[in-house]
Amino acid sequence: MASNVDPYNRKITYLRVSVTDRCNLRCMYCTPVKDLKLLDHADILSYEEILKVIHVATDLGIKKVRLTGGEPLLRRNFVHLVESACRIPQIEDVSITTNGVLLQEMARPLFEAGLRRINVSLDTLNPLKYTKITRRECFDAVWNGLQVAEAIGFSPIKVNVVVIKGINDNELLRFADLSVRKPYHIRFIEYMPIGRDSNWAPEKYVPSDKIRSKLETFGPLRKIPRSIHDGPAERYQFQSAKGEIGFISALSHHFCPLCNRLRLTADGKLRPCLFADDEVDIKSPLRNGYSHQDLRDVFQQAIARKPRRHHAEILKKRECLRSMSTIGG
Ligand code: SAM
Repeated sequence: MASNVDPYNRKITYLRVSVTDRCNLRCMYCTPVKDLKLLDHADILSYEEILKVIHVATDLGIKKVRLTGGEPLLRRNFVHLVESACRIPQIEDVSITTNGVLLQEMARPLFEAGLRRINVSLDTLNPLKYTKITRRECFDAVWNGLQVAEAIGFSPIKVNVVVIKGINDNELLRFADLSVRKPYHIRFIEYMPIGRDSNWAPEKYVPSDKIRSKLETFGPLRKIPRSIHDGPAERYQFQSAKGEIGFISALSHHFCPLCNRLRLTADGKLRPCLFADDEVDIKSPLRNGYSHQDLRDVFQQAIARKPRRHHAEILKKRECLRSMSTIGG
């Protein structure tokens, strides 16, 4: 019988889809400057194929979809994909993760397509440092994009901040202040050893507990009780703040027992765990005319292969060589 329960009794209800491996930034922890190997267009799933996978997934209890990349806003007619995903009755929640560079012009059409929830990656509030981290001069575009999205009514707007020692760990209090002034959910993400190009090293890693201690010098943090809609983030708030603070502690407090997700890579692989390169190919079955039922079986195989937990702890063997831009984060 079809089931979305994995071998460790976790219910899989969330699919994250990387729609492209192309990106308009070259973040130092994500993408190499030289020898960037991009997928052939023919290897990237079409929107029709992505929607087919989402439909199959809904049969197995998927209720939530996040579209990511690479940079999803770069892909042609992306609004069409968002609109189609928002129209699937069984999908209760569609969101995107974007670097925000194209948000100024795309926010309105995305909102009209039915999107309400966005995550924008912004690791620094300093334009020069932004250029150093992303290797592109796009800080103003992203900042303006955030203001436009806020004015249009997106909610929540989450701001993803990957904290890297010696790079942006001296800006934590500025982000704290931003969470007070703006209705943004600032989510501090632990730097993860994912992909050949992550440049990760133990000495660059800052655990969430350290980030939280630093933030507490800004003011007391009230814990927000976990709701069933919450992902892995531990949520907090400063007094009288318009926004929130969240911690995604994939390494220091791994949240594998709560994992409810599967990932679809840009080239059509179902990935049971972010941190491991074990994948189930669904592109060939899609292109070889498998029936809906057969595709469902493939999806179920991926659920069945979810490991109990990841093993990406500091200094242990790295199991994930695939780049974050094809997985989608
Ligand atoms: N282009 C979009 C963006 O920038 O948000 C979506 C793709 S990006 C790969 C998705 C998320 O993964 C971003 O928030 C990014 O900061 C995060 N990310 C990439 N590499 C990471 C790493 N090594 N550790 C932690 N987060 C990472």
